[in-house]
Amino acid sequence: MAEKTLEDIPGVGPAIAEKLREAGYTEIMAIAVAAPSDLAETCEIGEKKAQDIIEGAKLCADIGGFETGDAIMQRRAAVTKLTTGSDSFNQLIGGGIESQSITELFGEFGSCKTQVCFQLAVNATLPEDRGGLDSDVIIIDTENTFRPERIIQMCNYLGVDPEATLKRIHIARAFNSQHQVLLVDKAMDLAKEIKVRLLIVDSLTSHFRAEFLGRGSLAERQQILNRHMHDLLNFATLNNAAIVVTNQVAAKPDAFFGDPTRPIGGHVVGHTATFRIYLRKGKAGKRIARLIDSPNMPEGEAVFSVTEDGIKD
Ligand code: ADP
Ligand code: MG
Repeated sequence: MAEKTLEDIPGVGPAIAEKLREAGYTEIMAIAVAAPSDLAETCEIGEKKAQDIIEGAKLCADIGGFETGDAIMQRRAAVTKLTTGSDSFNQLIGGGIESQSITELFGEFGSCKTQVCFQLAVNATLPEDRGGLDSDVIIIDTENTFRPERIIQMCNYLGVDPEATLKRIHIARAFNSQHQVLLVDKAMDLAKEIKVRLLIVDSLTSHFRAEFLGRGSLAERQQILNRHMHDLLNFATLNNAAIVVTNQVAAKPDAFFGDPTRPIGGHVVGHTATFRIYLRKGKAGKRIARLIDSPNMPEGEAVFSVTEDGIKD
């Protein structure tokens, strides 16, 4: 599937493509759903021309079609579940982290979001009879918190070769939100060469939060985040992969982001993530996972622990 560019729209040459991009119409889909009068005005072209471009964009845009229920049933039959390392955590989410879905882990700083990601990365390399996916893993690390030492500790506990495991975990640092979005394309390329059934983005929102400050940029942030989430979902579907993203909530109420227990990204992340799990600290070093909303599991809580060996009951 070669990615189409604006120049692929009939009647759009380099000059008009440039005008469209300058006006913010960077994607064919955005043009396909635009109003002719808006397009004419912002790009300084006639309304008839705008209408033609929109019609052309509709033909070019990959709008997709309808699928029958049995086709979806067939795809769902391929869904696998990745163990978290804790039986109670697994039970909470219906057996483990599902492929073909996005699972969001949200919680305060120190609630073990990253620890759970490490464990999932190690577990994904395990054979299927041990709850793994027998697969390589991609981690998009935005906060520079990947620690091979922790992977080695977890491997030692599980009795698997740490070096071989580290070789199957592919980490990319994302330096800003744009870079983060582009890394999903890179991940897609890598997944054509090797089996990748787990992709982690830790954290999904930190760059977005830092870069898009103020009310004025909220719409833009949500738009890019929305696109990013859909790219991730696409990766999940094409590779029968599990996607795990983390999202930090502020410990204290925040003038801009409001309610501290509400993850940033709000609707966009919430509506695209299939499973949302709230992590918090419990008594005596325990951690609590709370399932917030799921299409087929009741809400509930599970208690687990984080030790040097990793995630356990
Ligand atoms: P988050 O990503 O949610 O901000 P982390 O996943 O980094 O949080 O969790 C940090 C916590 O993980 C520490 O407070 C500690 O409780 C636990 N932790 C980290 N390393 C170890 C270890 N080697 N042994 C036991 N617990 C650890
Ligand atoms: Mg973290």
